[in-house]
Amino acid sequence: MATQRFNSIRWSRRNVLKATGATGLAVGLGGGIRASRAGGATGKRVVVVGGGPGGATTAKYLRKFDPSVEVTLVEKDPVYHTCFGANWYLGGFREFERTRQGFDALQKEHGVKIVQDTVTRWDSDKGEARLAENGKLSFDRLVISPGIDFRWEDVSGMGPEDTEQVPHAWAGGKQYRILRRQLEAMDDGGTVAICPPTNPFRCPPGPYERASLVAHYLKENKPRSKVLVLDAKDGFSKQGLFEEGWAELYGDMIEWVPGSEGGVIHRVDPGNRVVATREGFEEHDVDVLNVIPPQRAGKIARDMGLTDETGWCPVDQRTFESSVQPGVHVIGDASIAGAMPKSAFAANNQGKMTAAAIVSELRGQKVPEPSLVNTCYSLVGPDYGISVAAVYHFEDGKIRGVEGAGGVSPSGAGDFFRMREARYSRGWFAGVTDDIWG
Ligand code: FAD
Repeated sequence: MATQRFNSIRWSRRNVLKATGATGLAVGLGGGIRASRAGGATGKRVVVVGGGPGGATTAKYLRKFDPSVEVTLVEKDPVYHTCFGANWYLGGFREFERTRQGFDALQKEHGVKIVQDTVTRWDSDKGEARLAENGKLSFDRLVISPGIDFRWEDVSGMGPEDTEQVPHAWAGGKQYRILRRQLEAMDDGGTVAICPPTNPFRCPPGPYERASLVAHYLKENKPRSKVLVLDAKDGFSKQGLFEEGWAELYGDMIEWVPGSEGGVIHRVDPGNRVVATREGFEEHDVDVLNVIPPQRAGKIARDMGLTDETGWCPVDQRTFESSVQPGVHVIGDASIAGAMPKSAFAANNQGKMTAAAIVSELRGQKVPEPSLVNTCYSLVGPDYGISVAAVYHFEDGKIRGVEGAGGVSPSGAGDFFRMREARYSRGWFAGVTDDIWG
């Protein structure tokens, strides 16, 4: 039975690869671009804001598609820490250092100029971006991939000043360290509460992978403890597979409370680590509290008026050019990208697609037809992986899923299958970090 299921997912993966042109990463773009290198992009300047998966990929692939384009990447931090792989660190089986990514290869091997600074505003008519410290940069095109910001006003009782006591651990490296230290300090028999936000948010399966891997750590080190998931929603990504894995690996250690049954947070008391769910339900006095606030596009996108009433940035989904400001492209988590989720995999694809679109437009050539793919792997345990994959194309002005391509891991698969998916997950991490920052 397990073998049969394994074959069925392999077959569907093969279909994914076939549909996307075999690389599985922003495909069918490079060939057309390279074939016409003679074009007129020489001396054009592109400024990219944000050294995460979206921004770093765009910067690197702009240079790959046309080395005559001058590319400057502005990132406010000296290094980048991935969120992907950070739940593995919380689970106690991955070193924190593995989340760290530098910009040396982008600079030395790909000729991207790296500026450590914060972009505070720009004038797209003049083609000038202002930096907090280092004056201004001129551009012909601007790409921003600023990630997310939190809607603190929607979390009653706590704000960014409380994240030392109640970490979100949903951005930046330091927050993961705080949460990890709290897990280590907790006594056996304690309760860890994880509070996932409303949709849409960065990495839809992420909170449930976190619940799984925190449970893994507790099972190994503090087996009388409990993980309580107080959810704002009534359902979540890969739910059936997660619940199957939880029962298999952790018995009743993880309790998931859906929104309509008391999961929605009413108020947080960060000093005492108490979370009250919506009036009429309960107060939970816990030992470690991880509140993941609701989200919107990164601050600079909002400050510059690129967001709509949803809090995210509408774009032309073929080129990722802002629907509000011509000449400015918004990619990654901050953008409204049709059917694509907010993931590093997606941001990496979008970065390549955007680089191809910009180089084509700077040369006065036709923008290539996008074809995109996303796979979200999650670990339920170190050797227990599950995934969801989808292929996307551009149709009627939107990025839409290709019917019949992709799918989720089968339920009831055997240990070997889950172990293979866990291995693919680690392989994906190594491959994508090299593709982005290598
Ligand atoms: P970011 O990664 O947030 O990068 C934005 C960058 O812009 C930051 O470095 C920031 O410092 C910089 N910046 C912002 N504003 C400015 C400014 N004004 N000037 C200069 N710099 C600026 N995705 C997957 O595909 N697979 C996974 O397994 C996965 N696991 C995850 C697990 C967790 C726990 C979490 C939280 C996320 C996970 N993700 C995963 C999602 C992934 O991390 C995000 O989707 C991805 O980081 C988005 O990339 P981005 O470029 O849009 O934004």
